[in-house]
Amino acid sequence: MKFSTELIHAGETDRGVAMPLTTPIYETTTFVFDTAQEVVDYNQGRSSKYLYSRYDNPTIVSVERKVASLDRGESALLFSSGQGATTTILMAHLKAGDEVVCSAAIYGGTLHLLEDLLAKFGVVPRFVTLDDLANPDRVIGPRTRIVWFESPINPTLRCVDVKRVADACRARGVMSVIDNTFASPINQQPLAMGVDLAMQSATKYLNGHSDVTGGVVTGSKALVDPIAKARRQLGTVMDPHPAYALGRGLKTLPLRVARHNANADAVAQFLARDKRVTCVFYPGLATHPDHAIAKRQMTGFGGMVCFDLDGSYDRAARVYDRLKIIRRAASLGGVESLISMPVLTSQWGHTDAQLREAGVTRGMLRLSVGLEDPEDVIADLDQALES
Ligand SMILES: *Cc1c(COP(=O)(O)O)cnc(C)c1O
Repeated sequence: MKFSTELIHAGETDRGVAMPLTTPIYETTTFVFDTAQEVVDYNQGRSSKYLYSRYDNPTIVSVERKVASLDRGESALLFSSGQGATTTILMAHLKAGDEVVCSAAIYGGTLHLLEDLLAKFGVVPRFVTLDDLANPDRVIGPRTRIVWFESPINPTLRCVDVKRVADACRARGVMSVIDNTFASPINQQPLAMGVDLAMQSATKYLNGHSDVTGGVVTGSKALVDPIAKARRQLGTVMDPHPAYALGRGLKTLPLRVARHNANADAVAQFLARDKRVTCVFYPGLATHPDHAIAKRQMTGFGGMVCFDLDGSYDRAARVYDRLKIIRRAASLGGVESLISMPVLTSQWGHTDAQLREAGVTRGMLRLSVGLEDPEDVIADLDQALES
């Protein structure tokens, strides 16, 4: 089945006697058994019953089936946040002394987790550049256990050749993990390109309404099962209530992402033509350094657009302050268009050298193009740029 069909129907099976059309919120911490033998059967994995909601819950499982079908993955898990997903994946598959090769251009939370908390447990992070990731054979060492990367990358939307990284990892028995949050599985299918695990912050496009914090991972049962076990131990599972909202959001994901793609393309074209803007970063533009890679591995270029006002913080801040429809807020992937200044959010406190390394300037603005009429979004940018 196609995504639009799968996302509506996958997982919607467990109905009891009342036969509701949608899977209800099983707002319960625990589940009832009739006999001791039923508990034994559950413990031995010979039962479709549930025991305790930190382990599993029918609302959670229903949404996990949708997420798995979306990535064409064997298994999927839901977490209380994207960070919960990242922590649980890494703790499940790493031990002290293991090296994680990680793109230096990565979500800040991932970077800090590797540098601070996991380093305390003896995990060795090795941060590499985009050039390194273009030649992944060069950066995988004898102690490398995981290669963790993102594409497209925040905020420059630079892209990594996903298949190349996946192939290099597979050839050396190293696990590849992609953070697919920016693309979403509608635009990019990492598992089909050979990546072992795909994680996403469900807070962004998957839920899509900026009202749920969550995370997901998909992959083979063999790699996901140890993460499920770690999720029980860490307690990073999602709650049934947000899971219900996420399941509802997922049903319109293909529609929303198609519109995000179209709106972002219109906004990027407008900004690229505008003399007041120095540079526009959008993988769909032929001028983007990774346009060729993006065209090869993505079926849509996403809803994120970044642009630069000659590196000038003051000009960028003036435009930022003057916007009327586009809201000044962190995060992305929701129905509302949002704007952020990377030097105030993801790159806050970075030195000039670190900014150069990340390809970020003080005059950059990052847009998450929402689902408003693109003409209104463009008109808002136009009047703000007039300042
Ligand atoms: C938001 C985000 C995360 C973290 O997700 P949370 O749901 O905020 O914990 C991870 N990676 C990327 C690319 C993100 O944008």
